[in-house]
Amino acid sequence: MRSCTGIESYFRRSSGPGWALPGDAGHFKDPVTAQGIRDAYRYGRLLGEMLAPILGDRGGPDPQAIDAATAEWAAQRERDCVEIYQWTNVLATGLPPSPLEYEIYHRAQDHPEYAQTLSDIYNRVQTPSSMLPLTALPGLIIGALRQPTTSTQDVVADVRSQLQRLRNERNERNERRTLVRASSVG
Ligand SMILES: Cc1cc2nc3c(=O)[nH]c(=O)nc-3n(C[C@H](O)[C@H](O)[C@H](O)COP(=O)(O)OP(=O)(O)OC[C@H]3O[C@@H](n4cnc5c(N)ncnc54)[C@H](O)[C@@H]3O)c2cc1C
Repeated sequence: MRSCTGIESYFRRSSGPGWALPGDAGHFKDPVTAQGIRDAYRYGRLLGEMLAPILGDRGGPDPQAIDAATAEWAAQRERDCVEIYQWTNVLATGLPPSPLEYEIYHRAQDHPEYAQTLSDIYNRVQTPSSMLPLTALPGLIIGALRQPTTSTQDVVADVRSQLQRLRNERNERNERRTLVRASSVG
């Protein structure tokens, strides 16, 4: 199964004066990686933990401290979730695995460390980039070239598009960081 829904995935601005958007209200990703319930609980709880000391302040809650806490909370969720979000978006395209992706999953059959990494990504112990470290690329390319149904052109095109995707994702993360910083300052 490569995609669950045609529902758009998003990060919304999730904090402002006196408000915050936990759960799907602020951030949604295709259920293909089944992370939504975990993230709704985890960041709902974190929001409570960050706000509790301010709300319980003896002198009464300070609105500025509340807004600073919700802004920091939203930025942390975005930092923590952006990589799994981008990985989910790739899986949710509904396209069959590319030659390199196929090689990764194929290897997981015989190499427990690949299966462990994949399981750790789903469990959020490792990040999706651990699945395709640049040092593993040569071995994956050789394996992909050996696949009987894959041509050299397919593999070359895949390597190019994977590298481009990694560059795009890095740029997107940097842009998001800048936006988040700007919105928490403003
Ligand atoms: C098809 C599908 C399959 C999924 N499968 C998985 C999965 O396998 N694993 C996983 O982890 N996640 C999965 N998810 C994602 C997961 O369901 C959500 O991320 C999670 O439920 C978000 O929790 P939430 O509390 O933010 O929102 P919700 O669970 O949507 O709860 C919001 C509640 O607020 C109510 N509500 C809305 N507006 C109002 C209003 N104005 N007044 C009062 N009540 C209101 C709604 O009726 C709803 O009950 C799936 C999502 C979809 C769409």
